[in-house]
Amino acid sequence: MALLNPVQSRALLQAAVEQRFAILAVNADSHAAVTDCLEAARECEAPIIIETSLWQLTGQSYGNGDPILGLARYLTDLTALAGSERYRGVPVIFHTDHIKGPETVRILSAAIRGVPQRASTISLDSSELSEGENITLICQLCEIAKEAGVALTLEMEAGVDAGVTEIEVAERLLGAVESKHPGYLALWAPGVGTQHGLSDKGYPFSAEAVAKHQKRGSEICGRPIGLALHGSSGLKESDLRAGVAAGVAKVNWSSESLLIRSQAAQEYYATHAAELEKSHKAWKATAMDNGMQSFIAARYVPKVAERIRILGGAGKILDVSMHNSMSPLTP
Ligand SMILES: [Zn+2]
Repeated sequence: MALLNPVQSRALLQAAVEQRFAILAVNADSHAAVTDCLEAARECEAPIIIETSLWQLTGQSYGNGDPILGLARYLTDLTALAGSERYRGVPVIFHTDHIKGPETVRILSAAIRGVPQRASTISLDSSELSEGENITLICQLCEIAKEAGVALTLEMEAGVDAGVTEIEVAERLLGAVESKHPGYLALWAPGVGTQHGLSDKGYPFSAEAVAKHQKRGSEICGRPIGLALHGSSGLKESDLRAGVAAGVAKVNWSSESLLIRSQAAQEYYATHAAELEKSHKAWKATAMDNGMQSFIAARYVPKVAERIRILGGAGKILDVSMHNSMSPLTP
C-alpha cells in the first residue's frame, strides 16, 4: 500500500470514523522520528499518519529555510520508506499540519500538485485567519486541485487553540466549502476542549462536543466526516478512548512525542559521557547519529505503539488499494 494517495486516504479516514478507531498522526521532525513511527505502526499492524508543520519543513533536517525543498525532501524520504519491503504493508498518510503565513498557498499548492510526490491529505493553520479568510483559502486549494486535475482530501479546522467550538461554526465553515466544492472535506477540527502543548492543569475535554460536531459535519457533507483532534498530548487515556468512540478519526500528537525523544537524547548523552572521550575505543559508534537515534528508538517506539493501541488502530490495515489515484475528484 505504501504512501496513500488522497483518494485512498479519504477511504481510510471514512472507514476509521465508521468503525470507530482513530489513526495516530505524529508531527515527526526528523528522518529518524519518521522511521520510528513506521516501525511502531508495523508492529501494531496499524495505519499511521505522518504530518509536518511549517517549522519542520523549514528546519535543519529538511528544508533548511526553504519550505518547498523541505517538502520535497520529506515526501521523497517518506515515499521511499513507506514503499520499502519492511514497511510496504503499512498504510501511510502524509498530512500537512500547521502551515500558515504568506507562503501557505505556494507550499500547499506544491503539496497538492506534487513536488514530485503528492501529499495524501492537506490542512492549514487557520488560527490567525477570519472565518471568511479560512473559507477563501480552503476554496482556493480546491480550485488548485481542480485545475491540476488531481484529487484532494482536506481537513478543515476552526482555528481555535482552546475551548469548545459552537456548532454554528461547522455550518458556516464546512457548509460554505461543501456548497462550492463538494467532496473534498474528510476531516473537521473544531475545538473540543483540548489545547496545544503540555500543561499540568486539567483539560475540559468534551466527548459530547466531539459527537455533536461529528454528526453535524457528516450531515452537512452527506458522508462520514471524522474529527481531527489537535492538542492530544495532555489528554488522559480515558478521554482519548471516549473521543474515538464519539467520532475522532485522527489524533495529532506532537508535544509529548517531542518530550519523549528529547529526554531520551538527554539520557543518552548523560549516560555515554565517558564513551565520548576520544581515547575511548567506542567513541565513534557513540558519536554517530545512529548511536543516539537507536537509543531513542528503543524508548520511543513502544510509546508510539502504546498510543496507536489506545486509539484502536492496531490490526486496522484495511485494503484501500482499489481506490486508485485516477478516481474522480468526488468520492
Ligand atoms: Zn494542531
